Amino acid sequence: MALAEELPGATPEEGLAEIVSDWLDAFDTALGSGDTDGAAGLFLGDGHWRDLVAFTGHIRTMNGRHDIAARLRQTQPGTQAKGFQIAPHRTPPRLVSRAGTETIEAIFAFETATGPANGVLRLVLDGEEGDGNHWRAWVLATALEQITGHEERIGAHRPDGEGYSREFGGDNWLDLRNTAQAYAGHEPDVLVVGGAQAGLGIAACLGQLGVDTLVIDRTERIGDSWRLRYHALALHNQTHVNHLPYMPFPPNWPLYIPKDKLANWFETYAESMELNVWTATSLGGGAYDQAAGRWDITLDGADGRDRVVHPRHVVFATGVSGIPIHPDLPGLDDFAGDVMHSGAYLSGHQWAGRKALVLGTGNSGHDVAQDLHASGVDVTVIQRGTTLIASIDEAQKIYALYDEGPPTEDCDLLAAASPYPVLVQGYQMMARAMQAADKDLLDGLTVRGFRLDLGPPDNTGLQMKYLRRGGGYCLNVGCSELIIDGQVGLMHYDQIERFVPEGVRLKDGTIVAADLLVTATGYENQQEVVRATLGDAVAEKIGPVWGFDGEGELRNMWRRTAQPGLWFTAGGLPHVRIYSKFLALQIKACKEGILDPAPPM
Ligand SMILES: Cc1cc2nc3c(=O)[nH]c(=O)nc-3n(C[C@H](O)[C@H](O)[C@H](O)COP(=O)(O)OP(=O)(O)OC[C@H]3O[C@@H](n4cnc5c(N)ncnc54)[C@H](O)[C@@H]3O)c2cc1C
Repeated sequence: MALAEELPGATPEEGLAEIVSDWLDAFDTALGSGDTDGAAGLFLGDGHWRDLVAFTGHIRTMNGRHDIAARLRQTQPGTQAKGFQIAPHRTPPRLVSRAGTETIEAIFAFETATGPANGVLRLVLDGEEGDGNHWRAWVLATALEQITGHEERIGAHRPDGEGYSREFGGDNWLDLRNTAQAYAGHEPDVLVVGGAQAGLGIAACLGQLGVDTLVIDRTERIGDSWRLRYHALALHNQTHVNHLPYMPFPPNWPLYIPKDKLANWFETYAESMELNVWTATSLGGGAYDQAAGRWDITLDGADGRDRVVHPRHVVFATGVSGIPIHPDLPGLDDFAGDVMHSGAYLSGHQWAGRKALVLGTGNSGHDVAQDLHASGVDVTVIQRGTTLIASIDEAQKIYALYDEGPPTEDCDLLAAASPYPVLVQGYQMMARAMQAADKDLLDGLTVRGFRLDLGPPDNTGLQMKYLRRGGGYCLNVGCSELIIDGQVGLMHYDQIERFVPEGVRLKDGTIVAADLLVTATGYENQQEVVRATLGDAVAEKIGPVWGFDGEGELRNMWRRTAQPGLWFTAGGLPHVRIYSKFLALQIKACKEGILDPAPPM
C-alpha cells in the first residue's frame, strides 16, 4: 500500500498510532475550545460524519465540512465530547482499503455528558489544498456506548441474584419470572410488536438496560416467523455474521443455518435472555395519549380475550415482510387453479405431477420454483422486470469485513461507519466483482432470455436493492441453473394477455396450462402495517419506513420518528445485532428524561 511509505515511527504500528493520536488530539482540542470550524477543517472537504446517538441523540449523517461544522456547533455544547483516544483493548489502527480507498482505520473512545462513547476514524492523506500533505478524516463515526448510571446489566454489572437466591419461603427466580411475564399488576414501559429476530433483539437490549418490555407475536410459537417459511429454506448469509445480541451461535453450527434450527434458537434466546413474550397475541389497535405521553393499546389474544396496555413506547418489529402484495392480474378471477402468495408457500409435494407458475423472480420466487421443481412439479417462472442474480458464495462478499480477523463487536462498529456515499461506492465495486465472478452463470441466463440488472440506477448491487426496496434480487442456490437448462421454464410478464380458467393465455394466443400460481411479489411497506393498526393519521405522520431518506439514513429505522413513542426495527440478522443497542439506548434515554421523545428538528 502506498500509504505505508508515509508512516512515521520505528514500526508501522507506532506510525499508525501516532497519526491517529495526532488527529484525535487536534479534534479534541478544537471541540474543547469551541472551534467547530477548526474541528470540521480536520475533515476532507467532502468528508463524512455518521453519528449513532452520541452527539445528536439520533442516527444522522453529515456530508461535507459545512454540514459537519454546523452539526458540531449545534450538538457539542450539550454533548461535551472530550478525551478522544485510540480505544484500548480493541483492534488497533490498521491500513485498509475501504470502497477502493486506502485509509488508516482506527477505533477510538471518548466521553460525553451522557456516557462513554466510541467511534471509527478513517484518515487519508490530503494534499489538495496547497498547504502540504495532511491526514484528514474521510469518514468519522461516533457511537454512544453506555448511559452513565444505567449501564447494561452484563459482565461486572450483572444482577447479583440476591433477590431470588436462597430466599427460603419467598419467591424464587421462577416465581419472579412468572410475575414479570403476567403483567397482572404492572404495565410494560415498552411494547414490542413482533417477536421474530428484530423484536427479540430489541427486547434483549432493552432488558439489559432495565427497561420493562413486553413482546407480542401473533404466531403460536416463538420462531414461527422462520418455522412457517418454506420447507427447504436455510439462511442465505453465513452463521458468523448472524449472531443475535449478547448470545452468539454455538461454534459447531453449520455455515448456513436451516430455518427450523434458527426458529428453535429464538425460543432458547427468549428464555435465556429472560424476555417477556406473549405469543398468539396480535396488536388490535391503539392511539397515543399526547397529554399522558403513553399509548392505549388493545391486544387481541388467541383465547378471544382482549387486554389493554399503556406502554410509553411501541416498537414495530413486524418485519419488512408484513403484508403480502397481491398483484392485480388481468383475468385472475377466472383462473381455476390455486393461488397463493410466496409467504404462504410451504412445500410443493401436493402439486407433484402438475403444473405451476411462479410470478416474480426475486429470492422467494426462485426458491419456491426450485422447491416445486424438486417436488416433481412442472414449473415456469414469470419475470416482470429485471432481476439481480448473484451466486450465494459470491454474495458473501458483502460481509467480507467479518472475515478480516477483528472480533464481531469491532466489525459491527466498522460496518456502521459507512455513510451512504461510501456505501454506494463500496457496493458498486462489490457488484462489479460479483458480476465478473458469476460471468458464466449470468451469460447462461442472458442466453435463455432472463433479464438481468446490477442494481439500478447506479449499479450498487444486491445489498443496496435490499436497503432501498427490500427485494429485487436472488442469491442463487441452483434455480438459475435449472432455468438455464430449461428444467424450470421462463416466461415474461409482457407476453401474457390474461389469466384464463386453465392457466394463462399469451398475446400470441398460446395457452400455458397451470394448476397453481404462486405470487412471489413482495410485501407492503411497514407504513401500511401501521395504517392497519394505528390508523391513517399516524401512518401519514411517519411516512414510509425503510428505504433511504435524503440524508442517506434508512427512513424511521432505529431512531425517533415523527410520532413520539413510536419506533421501528427490522432487517437481516446483522442489522438487528448492530442497531438494537442504539434503539434501546434512545428509548432508555427517553425514559430517564435525557432525550425528548419528540423527534429532533
Ligand atoms: C424467504 C426469506 C429468506 C431470508 N433469508 C435471510 C437470510 O438468510 N439472512 C438474513 O439476514 N435475512 C434473511 N431474510 C430477510 C430477513 O432477515 C427476514 O425477513 C426476517 O424474518 C426479518 O425479521 P424481522 O424480525 O424484522 O421480521 P419477521 O421475521 O417478518 O417477523 C415479524 C413478526 O411480527 C409478527 N407480527 C406481524 N404483525 C403483527 C401484529 N399485528 N401483531 C403481532 N405480531 C405481529 C409476525 O408474526 C412475525 O413473527 C429473508 C427473508 C425471507 C422472506
